[in-house]
Amino acid sequence: MPTKAFAAESATSPLGPFTIERREPRATDVAIDIQYCGVCHSDLHFARNEWGMSVYPIVPGHEILGKVTAVGRDVRKFKVGDTAAVGCLVDSCRTCNHCRRGLEQFCLGGPTFTYNGEDKHMGGMTYGGYSERVVVDEAFTLKVPGNLDPAGAAPLLCAGITTYSPLRHWKVSKGQKVGIVGLGGLGHMGVKFARTLGAHTVLFTTTLSKVVDGKRLGADEVVISKNADEMAKHAGSFDFILDTVSADHDLNAYMSLLKLDGTLVLVGAPPNPLAISAFSLLFPRKHLAGSLIGGIAETQEMLDFCGEHNIVCDIEKIKIQQINEAYERLLKSDVKYRFVIDMASLKHSQR
Ligand code: NAP
Ligand code: ZN
Ligand code: ZN
Repeated sequence: MPTKAFAAESATSPLGPFTIERREPRATDVAIDIQYCGVCHSDLHFARNEWGMSVYPIVPGHEILGKVTAVGRDVRKFKVGDTAAVGCLVDSCRTCNHCRRGLEQFCLGGPTFTYNGEDKHMGGMTYGGYSERVVVDEAFTLKVPGNLDPAGAAPLLCAGITTYSPLRHWKVSKGQKVGIVGLGGLGHMGVKFARTLGAHTVLFTTTLSKVVDGKRLGADEVVISKNADEMAKHAGSFDFILDTVSADHDLNAYMSLLKLDGTLVLVGAPPNPLAISAFSLLFPRKHLAGSLIGGIAETQEMLDFCGEHNIVCDIEKIKIQQINEAYERLLKSDVKYRFVIDMASLKHSQR
């Protein structure tokens, strides 16, 4: 099926209209007309080849929500007209040790990412959610609780799971002091989840004007991370810190805020290596770790948790024609707090 999309055709070209081909649904496939797609900072890293692994043309987008328009004969989870969602993964080997443990994102055979992944059906690369429709195996589709606003729910598929998964893995709970670094797409969900899990939640931001929003979103305290005196007041006091920053910054400043056996987890993926002083880790016995999105079962668990607690992302809706401008705003940390593309706007694009 020819499908309208927005693509970057090189690392230096802006995104623009492009036509891709989607497969006809097979027995276990679900065809989804995309209503909303969130804009993740990873989309920008990929569109501009900042991680050195982009294949062009690239159609970003891995926070996908829409309506089911067709199902294969063996599909059990959905019927035509249902709402369905797709995140960062569209397939994996399903048999390796990691897949069997529900960690498809770490599939030993290599997971198939929603875009810029090897397309096992069509050849070439997978194309993401900046497009009219997507066809995905039902095993990699998610159900969205009916009480959640669909546009606000779309970014849960990456920003939501990427922050929920480490908070659960490291057992963040009541009685702990937890830091979230950066108030963007991931960070604002980190604040909401940490607070909902009962932790004393501290937001670290570089943007003075985000203090009020940080508190509104659930932070018990907000620290301006550029202010050394404010940072020093929290030295040695954190159980856990989640770092969502997308660019160069000083990790040692956050390591010094951890207490004995405390853990700093990176989910942000700045393109350049980050320097770490050995003494930041040695004294007193600290951990530095990372986390990547989450598996399919955990993504469904996160969506159900959001349904139960009425949690969605705070979003700014945009038209697909505004995507390049939105990327420029992401680079200025100027997003409140996730851009979501209203895909109806794609119907008006011509190539
Ligand atoms: P975003 O919405 O642009 O938010 C990033 C935030 O980081 C900004 O709002 C800003 O917050 C802070 N920041 C930006 N530049 C900074 C700098 N130079 N120094 C200090 N703070 C800075 O991005 P996002 O979509 O949340 O993604 C964040 C990162 O996570 C990206 O690198 C993305 O690729 C990565 N990511 C990883 C995973 C994973 O599975 N691990 C999944 C999705 C995304 P303040 O204004 O509050 O300081
Ligand atoms: Zn993402
Ligand atoms: Zn596998």
